[in-house]
Amino acid sequence: MKKCSECNGKMVELKAKTPEGVEYDYFICEMCGEEIIKAEKLHAAPQKHRLMKRYNAKISKWGKGLGIKIPNELVKKYKLKDNELVTVISEKEGIKIIPA
Ligand SMILES: [Zn+2]
Repeated sequence: MKKCSECNGKMVELKAKTPEGVEYDYFICEMCGEEIIKAEKLHAAPQKHRLMKRYNAKISKWGKGLGIKIPNELVKKYKLKDNELVTVISEKEGIKIIPA
């Protein structure tokens, strides 16, 4: 059993997910609520996170501009619909699309 470093209370193991769906384990103290995320998971999460977020999409001509075909998996995940308006943000490394 793991003990809390703050109050010596009992730590229980729980699972949680980041908003991106990456699962991680953490301990929470039943007494004071102190949280400890397992170090190895914390280290692995950003890597897993990067792998999960990579998709290949093709750019094609669409009217006078260019369009990007969003992978079906992402269409479902973000519940995107035909003709829906999204916010496109220019970032340092690329373009971010935020569903409305
Ligand atoms: Zn505690």
